[in-house]
Amino acid sequence: MGQPSDDPLTDERHLREVVVSAINEGVVAIDASGRFVFANEAAARLLGFADARALTALARGDIFGRWQVLDESGAPIPVDELPASQALRGAAAERELHLRSRSGLDDRWLHFAATPVARDDGHVALIACVFHDVTEARRLADGQRFLAEASTVLGSSLDYATTLRAVAQLAVPRLADWCAVDMKTEDGFSRLAVAHVDPKKVELALEIERRWPTPRSSPSGVPHVLATGKPELYAEIPDEMLVAGSIDAEHLAVARALGLRSAMLVPILGARGTFGAITFVSAESGRRYGAADLSLASELAARAALAIDNALLYGDAQAAVRLRDDFLSIAGHELRTPLTALQLQLQGLVRNAKKPVLPAAADLVDRLEKACGHVGRLERLISELLDVGRITTGRMAMHAEEMDLAALAREVVERFGDDSARAHAPITLAAPAPVFGRWDRLRVDQVLTNLVGNAIKYGAGKPIDVEIARHDGRAVVRVRDRGIGIGAADQERIFGRFERAVSERHFGGLGLGLWIVRQIVEAHGGSITVRSAPGEETLFTVELP
Ligand code: ADP
Repeated sequence: MGQPSDDPLTDERHLREVVVSAINEGVVAIDASGRFVFANEAAARLLGFADARALTALARGDIFGRWQVLDESGAPIPVDELPASQALRGAAAERELHLRSRSGLDDRWLHFAATPVARDDGHVALIACVFHDVTEARRLADGQRFLAEASTVLGSSLDYATTLRAVAQLAVPRLADWCAVDMKTEDGFSRLAVAHVDPKKVELALEIERRWPTPRSSPSGVPHVLATGKPELYAEIPDEMLVAGSIDAEHLAVARALGLRSAMLVPILGARGTFGAITFVSAESGRRYGAADLSLASELAARAALAIDNALLYGDAQAAVRLRDDFLSIAGHELRTPLTALQLQLQGLVRNAKKPVLPAAADLVDRLEKACGHVGRLERLISELLDVGRITTGRMAMHAEEMDLAALAREVVERFGDDSARAHAPITLAAPAPVFGRWDRLRVDQVLTNLVGNAIKYGAGKPIDVEIARHDGRAVVRVRDRGIGIGAADQERIFGRFERAVSERHFGGLGLGLWIVRQIVEAHGGSITVRSAPGEETLFTVELP
């Protein structure tokens, strides 16, 4: 090359033209008066013209009639500061520029490099401008930066309401002119946050939702996203959509005045289902959302969901710690009560033993029996505590043997003779026939003991019925008392670990008995249920296979 040639195809001028028009890079030459004296096809395409000829018919100023040239923050760049203007003043310059069409429908980032071509006298005669599209790279980098910032915000607190508000704020103007976060509630959703580029409009957005709340059964929008867990993208918001979505004429007028252009809604999907939805709307900026925006929004929602999951887990952990702390204080209190009583009896015995004349044997026996009762109470509490450990670590083994449930029930009821008499709560046992089965005798004893013990404890001194029967090949135990009863809201909860439905001031106990009972019954493949009318009666039914 470089040698003049006769072959028109390899003629140097021609070759240069062919190469310049073939490359993907936009190339234009502008003279000192600002006219395009050369443009290749890529330049025409990048600047949105039909072909190079259309572009060379224009002056540089005409470009600004079609495009707004913006910087990173979306602010217009003065013409004087553009690379071509600097080159016209004699200095090479380059910069990435954000071009947004005046119609708002087109949007792109171009990298421009402008080089001055000076005459011998030093005057700039021409500038050469080379430019290419960097929209994709910009979008990716912007998106990543935005997500990184959002993640920092999301990770900054375990109070998810505060963090989601901060995320909505972060989304404007980066991703939207309006951003709203709605949280799912039992009867629909509630608006947690609204952010707008213009803070004055936040109140307006809240007011609109207050005056014309989105119908909860709406087939699109927030209710639909919450119901389906699927995002929605409205690249364009045509007037028909506003008409269809408005509730009355005033609502429509307000919606029209907002100048909404494009919108997207993404669900916040966490480990526990759909928490809420984030809505992004473009208005003033004229931006139109596409697939890339939707994936960025979805990624943001995914990170928000993770933050909420973490916050909820943290809440659970805190609740568990609180429950354990409460339990420890109850357990300490419960253990001390019989211990204090035991100590009193022993001190009494020591005092008596030191007397020159020993007291009567009956008095001694009475004190010793009471001491044994307190030791028994301590023994039972400690067994319950040990059972918790055994059950939670899966070490509560069952040793099934052939046994008669009716006979066992007789034993248990007999054992409660004294307690029942003290509480004036007579126990009637209905066990007309033996009920044989293969169960762990000691554990089933524990079940009966617990249920009858509770019936006496909470039975308000009224008669108690225990019934052992066989029904459909299963053994059935019914324990009925006529005491304080259990409110409907507590009937499931009381089978939980450490759960109680009474105040510790009135009734002692660890809240473990029924939990252990249920574990034992279920380990046998059986079930336990309760039915109660507070103040009237309580019926516990156990079924064993
Ligand atoms: P504890 O009796 O040690 O509190 P349980 O696990 O045996 O623990 O019982 C849990 C809760 O269930 C009790 O605190 C009480 O509120 C309620 N409860 C159990 N049995 C009865 C009953 N027969 N009548 C009324 N309430 C009962």
